[in-house]
Amino acid sequence: MPLKDKVLIVEDDTGICNVLTAVLSTSGYETITAATAREADTLIRSHCPDLVLLDLGLPDRDGLEVIRAVRGWSGMPIVVVSARSQEADKVAALDAGADDYIVKPFGAEELLARIRTALRHARSAGASSDIARTGMLRVGGLAIDYDRRQVTVDGAPVHLTPNEFKILALLGRNTGRVLTYDAIIRELWGPGTQGDNQILRVNMANIRRKIEQNPAEPRYVFTEAGVGYRMAEEKEQPGTPEP
Ligand code: CA
Repeated sequence: MPLKDKVLIVEDDTGICNVLTAVLSTSGYETITAATAREADTLIRSHCPDLVLLDLGLPDRDGLEVIRAVRGWSGMPIVVVSARSQEADKVAALDAGADDYIVKPFGAEELLARIRTALRHARSAGASSDIARTGMLRVGGLAIDYDRRQVTVDGAPVHLTPNEFKILALLGRNTGRVLTYDAIIRELWGPGTQGDNQILRVNMANIRRKIEQNPAEPRYVFTEAGVGYRMAEEKEQPGTPEP
């Protein structure tokens, strides 16, 4: 019998907690549950779950504090499941260190897909391990050569400005993850920079014009409206079989 991944469900609404437990159990996960931030802290430290599903509106403390506390010592995947649908809430959770954000109500299939992605990231430590090994990232026809700072699409060289390369390289080190506008701006221009999304948008429009066949329907870099950008994973490219 294969080892099951253990998921901690942090949720104070008993009904939702039961649904999540049922969905995960039937899909082969072992589940434990916590109804408060305090309980979550204790279980995270004692069980070291493979993944945490986290509600933000908890009775004792905000879920954001749970994320920050865990990120002080662990990179374990945290997927926020929240009724808060505002872009600002997503940004806050992702900037605090959450791996993904699902808005309630959600479908079981979507939830399971996000969980699988977050677990796979944790296993492979993102694409960065590939980059460390080969100096290259390949997503479909897009190839980023980190050592030579060159980008090609379907073998043809793409001429990017230094900032455009930096943005693409950063997204490439985080394939599948949404990077918020502020996170990208901080990485590029330093922590003291006031976020100016407009500069980033202009850069992204230029990048898309250069790397995407149809910039209006991007294949490589997706927009999470009002939140940030996400580079596709190799798995999302058509024609690449699942292992
Ligand atoms: Ca709640």
